[in-house]
Amino acid sequence: MKNTNLICTNCKKTFPIDRIYPRCDSCAEPLEVQRVTSGTIIDGDILRQTILERYADFFPFSEGERTISLREGFTPLVKSSRLAFELRVKSLFFKNESQNPTWSFKDRGTVSGVNHALSLGYERIGTVSSGNMAVSVAAYGARAKLKTVIFVSVNIPPEKLDPIAIYDPLLIRVDGDYGDLYFQSLAIGKERDIYFINSDVPFRVEGSKTIAFEVCEEMNFEPPDFVIVPTSSGGNLRGIMKGFEEFKDCGLIKKVPRFICAQASGCAPICKAYSENNEKVSPFQDPDTIAHAIENPFPPSGNEVLRRIRENGGIFVAVTDDEILRAQKRLAEEGIFAQPAGAVPLAALAKLREDRKIDEENTVLCIVTGGGLKYTAALEKHNLKTAECRIENLADFVRKRL
Ligand SMILES: *Cc1c(COP(=O)(O)O)cnc(C)c1O
Ligand SMILES: [Zn+2]
Repeated sequence: MKNTNLICTNCKKTFPIDRIYPRCDSCAEPLEVQRVTSGTIIDGDILRQTILERYADFFPFSEGERTISLREGFTPLVKSSRLAFELRVKSLFFKNESQNPTWSFKDRGTVSGVNHALSLGYERIGTVSSGNMAVSVAAYGARAKLKTVIFVSVNIPPEKLDPIAIYDPLLIRVDGDYGDLYFQSLAIGKERDIYFINSDVPFRVEGSKTIAFEVCEEMNFEPPDFVIVPTSSGGNLRGIMKGFEEFKDCGLIKKVPRFICAQASGCAPICKAYSENNEKVSPFQDPDTIAHAIENPFPPSGNEVLRRIRENGGIFVAVTDDEILRAQKRLAEEGIFAQPAGAVPLAALAKLREDRKIDEENTVLCIVTGGGLKYTAALEKHNLKTAECRIENLADFVRKRL
């Protein structure tokens, strides 16, 4: 392990890097790994390198001999001239995170967290999630042959349970307050030596930095003006921002983009705190949105996202389920099938263009965080059309239509 520390995002108190409790003893805000101020990209062939190898200067551990990579990251950056034209922005890019081993960006943070766990000698890992994070941790736990425990809520539907169970973790449906479970898991982790790689723990945030690193490379080290991130716990937004900041401090890019924290209006605790001019996020009552992956009513990194976006000159925006579904369809019409949460950035962009908060000169990057097959129930909300005809009439049928 390189010589570095964890530092409180709020009061700046430092803690040893091998600490796994992710929050500050003084102020209870999230910790992060101290910022890297000198480093470079390790040249190599990305068909052979892993993200942790290519960006090794920006991680305090080296990928051990026990490589657990499933070839996460190095996802496509897709340029859409058509949607840029329709929405009247200079250029528009989608970072398609559905192209990860378990079909969401979570794999970046999981590979980073599992490597940290292995470097400290942990034999047990875990997480609290009902969705993408559970699937990701279960997959990497299986790959690394670690004992893996996943806490989910008792009323999780079977179609979400089975894609976790297939990797064979200790999968526990917990009856009780789901919000408490985050803190319960950390207490149990401490007692049983289980490394909980939850939503916004420092090394999960570290993994998300690689989204920024790849985008810098893909855009010739000229980052976009805006990055739009669908935000729940806040871990991914923090990581992507930290990635750009570290590349800037290392002289690899000249500017850090402005960040847009995009939430669903049915669960928008961070946007609400901002619009009410609060320093702190409070629990969002009765969350309800089709974008389940961003439905955390009390985000553990909410206060930090508020602080960072304010400093960064960024924007907070909430979009309705109708706007999200419209964006999901629009994105599919460009060839990218995102789950509802992954379509939130495009919905946010459409709204911010109407409100003139993003203008025609701007280059915009949307983070498409997860793939559409993750949540096929959303398809029922679309009025999708098919045609039917008898085989003897088929040629004629097609002739009339194409
Ligand atoms: C986890 C997740 C998010 C939210 O990320 P946070 O780091 O919790 O803010 C957004 N979209 C998808 C698809 C996710 O799985
Ligand atoms: Zn603190």
